[in-house]
Amino acid sequence: MSHEIDQEAEKTQRGEGPTRTDRIGKVFVVVGQEMRQCLICECVFTRRASCDHSTVPCMPVIAMRK
Ligand SMILES: [Zn+2]
Repeated sequence: MSHEIDQEAEKTQRGEGPTRTDRIGKVFVVVGQEMRQCLICECVFTRRASCDHSTVPCMPVIAMRK
């Protein structure tokens, strides 16, 4: 259990400049070596897929559990 918060998506958001208002700042948890889990929908993605996922809206899992 050595999960660490991956804030790469957040850094990308800051580095993009003010024109990228459609960028959603998401936080991913590193799972294993190459997998990352979205803290919003709890889906697991590869590094590349998580990068793509950070640019699209997703449904918070809490809303579905209710
Ligand atoms: Zn998600």
